[in-house]
Amino acid sequence: MSLGKNEVPIIITIDMEWAPGYAVRWMVERLWENSVKATFFATDLAEIDYIRQFPELFELGIHPNFLPGSDHGETTEEVLEFCMKLVPEAVSMRTHCLVQSTPILRKALDLTPIENDCSLLLPFTPNVSGHKLYLGAARPLNRFPFVWEDDVTQMTPGVDWSLGCMPAQDKYLMVNFHPLTVYLNDARGESYRNLKKANPKIGNTPKEAADKLISSGPGPQKTFLEIIAAAKNNSAMVKELGGTL
Ligand SMILES: [Zn+2]
Repeated sequence: MSLGKNEVPIIITIDMEWAPGYAVRWMVERLWENSVKATFFATDLAEIDYIRQFPELFELGIHPNFLPGSDHGETTEEVLEFCMKLVPEAVSMRTHCLVQSTPILRKALDLTPIENDCSLLLPFTPNVSGHKLYLGAARPLNRFPFVWEDDVTQMTPGVDWSLGCMPAQDKYLMVNFHPLTVYLNDARGESYRNLKKANPKIGNTPKEAADKLISSGPGPQKTFLEIIAAAKNNSAMVKELGGTL
């Protein structure tokens, strides 16, 4: 299996998405038992302390929700403050639903210690690069585009769940997973939608209800396990990418 012509670091990121603890822990355990690094973008307190037990493997970043009705706050300032209280050590972020603007990014620079932003999705695009974005703040923002994520793959015609569909990279390969999507091996998004209908507060979804909807066959869980195998000995966290700029 080839992920490109060169051996580039694989950056596994996980948007935690208010997911139930068992779904997050399932991912942590698979990563830990293979000594593969990852960056978790946290949305709430669930499992944060568990992830903190493995600082050599896992980075915790923030996943601020700037959508209307956000449980992180009403204004950009409130949302950033809430998220930094959740993860005071965070230096990396990806915004929920990739909501972004230059004013939002500038405020992240002015009001937080965030150095790295991963809110740019360039799906299935080869050879992307990190870059510095200057917004008039005291320092630039390091931006690292990512090229693959599970929920976009669900909706993209002409691709399947094989690693062969991941675009070749010459700097790094950053991919993104969501805990319940992976836990359910949800290739079309239907299992998640059904669970959410029955449990609007998705973090409270009973494990037995989720377990009944786990799919077999090609899907995000299989891809997650394959990318872990590919990332053995060659994984990195987002915060380690600064040196590539
Ligand atoms: Zn999100």
